[in-house]
Amino acid sequence: MNLNETINYNLYFQALQNRPPMVDYPPLDLYVELTNHCNLRCRMCANPTVMVRKRGFMERNLFTRLLAHIQDKIRYLRLFLFGEATLHPEFALFLKEAKDRGFSALLDSNLVGVSPELLSSLVDLQLDTLRISLDAIDNDQYRLIKGKDAYDQVMQAIQQLIDLRRKKGSVKPYLILQCIQMPENASTINSFKEIYAHLGVDFIDVVSYLNLKDRLKQNNGLAKGDPSALCYQPWRHLAITWDGRVTPCCQDFNCQMELGRFPDDSLFEFWNGEKLQCIRHNLVEHSFSDSSLFCKGCNCLYGSPVDQPDLSFVTIYEVLYPHRELISPQAWQGIEQERRKISPF
Ligand code: SF4
Ligand code: SF4
Repeated sequence: MNLNETINYNLYFQALQNRPPMVDYPPLDLYVELTNHCNLRCRMCANPTVMVRKRGFMERNLFTRLLAHIQDKIRYLRLFLFGEATLHPEFALFLKEAKDRGFSALLDSNLVGVSPELLSSLVDLQLDTLRISLDAIDNDQYRLIKGKDAYDQVMQAIQQLIDLRRKKGSVKPYLILQCIQMPENASTINSFKEIYAHLGVDFIDVVSYLNLKDRLKQNNGLAKGDPSALCYQPWRHLAITWDGRVTPCCQDFNCQMELGRFPDDSLFEFWNGEKLQCIRHNLVEHSFSDSSLFCKGCNCLYGSPVDQPDLSFVTIYEVLYPHRELISPQAWQGIEQERRKISPF
């Protein structure tokens, strides 16, 4: 993180204290949906069931214009939103372009059907972070949760990536193995970390289940909660769909909070534009309008307690990161937990 980015993070954490409708820093990161097609049908996901917007693949030209537009203003790209980004036939070219232009990239992937060539490209192109959505400890559980018999091939792909990284002497991509805790894996959740502890990934992340599918039914809304745990998303980042629709929320699967379209308008106009100011104001006041109705029943509305982080930790982390193989897995989990308070990814 450079000086400018550290200043922007400071401004962001200050904004979380007083929640202004307008902010004086750019979005800290950007979700870029390369596609909303997917090859799985995960139980907890809105994609296969309630996402009704058109499916497609982002065009190269739109991606190039987007990168030129945000260059030197937003460095951290999340190359996914609702879908499996590696299904994009030009995925490697998109990643190369982003990396050539100096962006940092995070990919969330299920790794299903990813070819050995593409796995190799993830290392060669120095993808920064890969978060693998696994959610299961064996094939039966995988099929139950993800709707497909693909556990063995995903485990094989993970092993290949670890081997490739070692063979090529690369510390990237940083590998996170993710498990979303849900009723179907609740009984084995405690063993998830143990089972994969010696696999060779960098961090094992067990996260809470967000009930996106039932969001549309929760129209009575939630009572006003602790203002210090109010959702951070409208103050933190933007997301753009494969066809250029811009929303402030990574859970807005049908773009109900759409701010407008890129490239018709600038992302930075949306960032402090009337609609997003209204959404921020509505969240603070707990009074919802058309643009923020989607937030009304959201289980993240008061689910984001944010500690004031120690930003000097960024420097410590960046020194430790390339030498993480020398640090015990337990110690690294602690360091990583600390980093996640300030991590752009
Ligand atoms: S969670 Fe990811 S992999 Fe699963 S259906 Fe949704 S988009 Fe696809
Ligand atoms: S409250 Fe929920 S729907 Fe609203 S911005 Fe936050 S995460 Fe998105």
